[in-house]
Amino acid sequence: MIKHDVVVVGGGLAGMRAAVEAAEHGADVAIVSKMHPVRSHSGAAQGGINAALGNREDDSPELHAFDCVKGSDYLGDQDAIEAMADDAPRQIVWLEHRGCIFSRLPDGRIAQRPFGGAGSPRTCYSADVTGLVILHTLWEQLERFGVKVYEEYFATALCVEDGIGTGVVAYNMRTGELELVTAKATIFATGGLGRVYAKTTNGYASTGDGMAIAYRAGIPLMDMEFVQFHPTSLKENGVLLSEAARGEGAYLLNSDGERFMFKYAPNKGELASRDVVSRAEWTEIIEGRGVDGCVFLDLRHLGREKILERLPQIRELALDATGKDAIDTPIPILPGMHYAMGGIETDKFGATSIPGVYAAGECACVSVHGANRLGGNSLLETIVFGARAARHAVEYIKSVGSVRQSARTLLAEKSRIAEILARQGGERHPQVRKRLNGLMSENVFIFRTEAELSKAVEGLREVRAAVQTMTVMDKSKTFNTDLTGLLEAEFLMDIAMPIAYGALQRDESRGAQARTDFPERNDDKWLVHTRMRYTGPTSDPKPDYERKVTFTKWQPQVRTY
Ligand SMILES: Cc1cc2nc3c(=O)[nH]c(=O)nc-3n(C[C@H](O)[C@H](O)[C@H](O)COP(=O)(O)OP(=O)(O)OC[C@H]3O[C@@H](n4cnc5c(N)ncnc54)[C@H](O)[C@@H]3O)c2cc1C
Repeated sequence: MIKHDVVVVGGGLAGMRAAVEAAEHGADVAIVSKMHPVRSHSGAAQGGINAALGNREDDSPELHAFDCVKGSDYLGDQDAIEAMADDAPRQIVWLEHRGCIFSRLPDGRIAQRPFGGAGSPRTCYSADVTGLVILHTLWEQLERFGVKVYEEYFATALCVEDGIGTGVVAYNMRTGELELVTAKATIFATGGLGRVYAKTTNGYASTGDGMAIAYRAGIPLMDMEFVQFHPTSLKENGVLLSEAARGEGAYLLNSDGERFMFKYAPNKGELASRDVVSRAEWTEIIEGRGVDGCVFLDLRHLGREKILERLPQIRELALDATGKDAIDTPIPILPGMHYAMGGIETDKFGATSIPGVYAAGECACVSVHGANRLGGNSLLETIVFGARAARHAVEYIKSVGSVRQSARTLLAEKSRIAEILARQGGERHPQVRKRLNGLMSENVFIFRTEAELSKAVEGLREVRAAVQTMTVMDKSKTFNTDLTGLLEAEFLMDIAMPIAYGALQRDESRGAQARTDFPERNDDKWLVHTRMRYTGPTSDPKPDYERKVTFTKWQPQVRTY
């Protein structure tokens, strides 16, 4: 049996940052991860991480916080946003002192590029491979502290004894055995849910596992209807071309060669916030000014030298997928599913409603992104709130004596998995997943209507029935990815419904939720967070709207860019 004081589920940036912080504070901490930590989706982050470093007179943490509040369309909790913006410069210095190599200005200071929705250039970067560079820095710190990593351990359930979190049950993918991972504090850092959609910029492992596990255990999911569609993904494979391209000055063009963004965002143009740019692109496409369902990202005027120095990966990704060289050809792009603003409800320290259970990073909803996240703020969130959740957890465990091992959760999971392996005759999980993906991509996209959302909810109810009977062909014990694929499909099902259902209930347009039948923001009714509670594998989620948005300094204004 595995036992530690603090167990972090997930080895991406949020998980590793949390583990390093706990280790620095002397806690016995371990990471449980379904894959090797440096393969986490965080490693795909290209563009950068935001912090008002003080390099420029026209920037400050307060201005950073305001940009987030405005970007969130006033749904973000302002106390949490201020905490993030204030801590950001300190965290960048922390990373830098541990060997993270940021790109530099000629005078040696950390370089910062402009990003969408930001009042001044504040996105720190390592060329266009920022996530990978930070991930490796943190991996070195894990090694330095000797943090134990249970790699290829797939968490399936949260253990709760007497209302208190006591760890997780994890499926050891090498042996096929379910094991109890007991902990005084458990921190979820399991990342995003992109695979709910047919096409996404997210990795294959972004299946919302932690969100579904916490939700099933009774923790509400918050603001799930707010899904970010990134303006520049490749049609061929859904892969992202980072906002860094527009940050460095790339244009968006329609079929007439027009820089259309200024029609939609007269001041910011291509650097408006992502929800605004994605809607503009989609409008151009549906009004017939696209080419083959795409518009163009044009880097040509930046010149070969700048592209090769600052955006080498972007050029390569586009070249691999389209055969087009961004140095001399505009690249066809379209909006693609990218990020979940919603997630496991936490307070501003990362604590959930179950004592001893925390969440940080993309799986959490603190909420610092509200209805729309600004580019560069997610990496920041993983670092700031990974560390905060760990500090809070380390304090919390001081008051915990011994923890009860949750033998009953282990037994329940064993019989659940045995039942799945023994099933006959149902649908195969890839087919079920395809139906789920299709429903979400067709009906819960950039522009939403009651008719489409109702269709999604109805369709998901049918898929939900099929999910209960899904089967695997591989019954073996070693690396049974057929089984883990099925478990992931179950997680996707559980979190798809709160997205569609939440979008249907919220009859207004705010940030990434654009209802063509309710085109206005409705502050009288909707300055509240959506919370969804789990009611069982075959019934609809139970919504509540009791958590109000926290305001500190900024009252809602009309949002233009
Ligand atoms: C292509 C791309 C580019 C991006 N670029 C930027 C950018 O430039 N700037 C920015 O701010 N944001 C960016 N983002 C967003 C940002 O990278 C992510 O939101 C963030 O890195 C998520 O980090 P995380 O630690 O929460 O999760 P992840 O990095 O996704 O890690 C999740 C971890 O959880 C583990 N896990 C999941 N399920 C289980 C389970 N059941 N059991 C055990 N372990 C599990 C996985 O093994 C993994 O280690 C980008 C995202 C993408 C997809």
